[in-house]
Formats: sequence, C-alpha cells, structure tokens
Amino acid sequence: MSESETELEPCRHCGTETTQRAEGIPYCSMDCIGARRRELEQETIECPYPDCDWSTNYSPDKGLSRAIAYHKAEQHREEHRSQLAEANPTGGNQ
Ligand SMILES: [Zn+2]
Ligand SMILES: [Zn+2]
Repeated sequence: MSESETELEPCRHCGTETTQRAEGIPYCSMDCIGARRRELEQETIECPYPDCDWSTNYSPDKGLSRAIAYHKAEQHREEHRSQLAEANPTGGNQ
C-alpha cells in the first residue's frame, strides 16, 4: 500500500491517456466504454463446413446488420453446396 495514484494508461478504445478505469481497464470516457462494449457484443456466424474458416460479424442490436450477416452466411453455404454438387453429381451414394 505505498502508492494509491493511478498511472496514466492509454484508453483501450481511443488511445487517449487516462487515469480513469472501468472494471480495472483504462477507458477515458463513458463514450469509449459504450463503444467498446458494442464491439464486444458483436456476434459471429461461422461456416459449419469443416476446413473452412469463413465467418462474418454482426451487431445483435441492429436488425439490419443481423439480416445482412445471415444473408451472407446463406450465400456462402450455397457456394459450398454447388461445389459439392459439382464434385458429386450423382448425389453421393456410396
Ligand atoms: Zn477513450
Ligand atoms: Zn465455408
């Protein structure tokens, strides 16, 4: 318990040096906390196919962002399906 002073550290969101902390993490203002929280709340849709690292992000609080992400994911899966269909035109009976 030698020093109670808080050191200046760059805000995690905008990089401005600040002594303020939010849950131990340096943030210079409420705006930056809010903006960061929104970033962290982004949802990720990952491609379900193995050996494919495709993914897309959307903000769950924005309906349009979500709709676009789902549309992109659906289009991407459609690409896989057409590739599989080309590789296996008979339907894949083994
Ligand atoms: Zn900031
Ligand atoms: Zn994929």
